[in-house]
Amino acid sequence: MDNRHTTSTTGWSLVTVATGHGTTRTLPAEPAAPGLVIVPDHEPDLPRWTDGYRVVHQASGTPVSPSGLRLAHARELAHALATGADWTRPAGELHTDPDVHRHTDLVLFDLSTARDFGGPVFWARRSWRQVHTRTGHHLWELACGVPFCTAGDDTGPAVLTDPTDDSEHPQPLRNADQVPLIVHARADGWRQDATRVNAQQWMCPYCADYHPRTHD
Ligand SMILES: [Zn+2]
Repeated sequence: MDNRHTTSTTGWSLVTVATGHGTTRTLPAEPAAPGLVIVPDHEPDLPRWTDGYRVVHQASGTPVSPSGLRLAHARELAHALATGADWTRPAGELHTDPDVHRHTDLVLFDLSTARDFGGPVFWARRSWRQVHTRTGHHLWELACGVPFCTAGDDTGPAVLTDPTDDSEHPQPLRNADQVPLIVHARADGWRQDATRVNAQQWMCPYCADYHPRTHD
């Protein structure tokens, strides 16, 4: 029986990760995508967590990502890796598959850009959306484009709201022109994609905190 990974009734897994120097350590793991889990980083020689995470191949315990990732980046990375390869396959098969290498290289490059510029590994949705009113007007509203954003109403993605609306469920701020919305967004701590590759994409203040910029 393969006892390197087990799933508990809580949905957490235990994964035995190679730590280098021929040693291993069994760690609690968050299931992040089929065949991939997230484990916390730890000091090599001490039973002590550090401040980062990494993505690991569940069946073999082989790290797939660099260490020291922010949790948001680790989750996005696992999702992006799983969209182009089947990580439930054994490590030996994955290791010899050139398509898996190509896909992994591309996603790790996106991760490196995301870490440098303080953004997500990929964008999950368009930030600008057009709303058609009953009176026949077309108005813009701005939504957070970050994957897994739960800062909005009903734990959906955040939408820029009217700062003068202090009700429990403030209404989305809408305008026929994008510029006034951009002014409000900046004032509220929303951040635009810093690579300028996706200049139309924005992240809410909550997601901006979890995707700090390390590069200007
Ligand atoms: Zn967000």
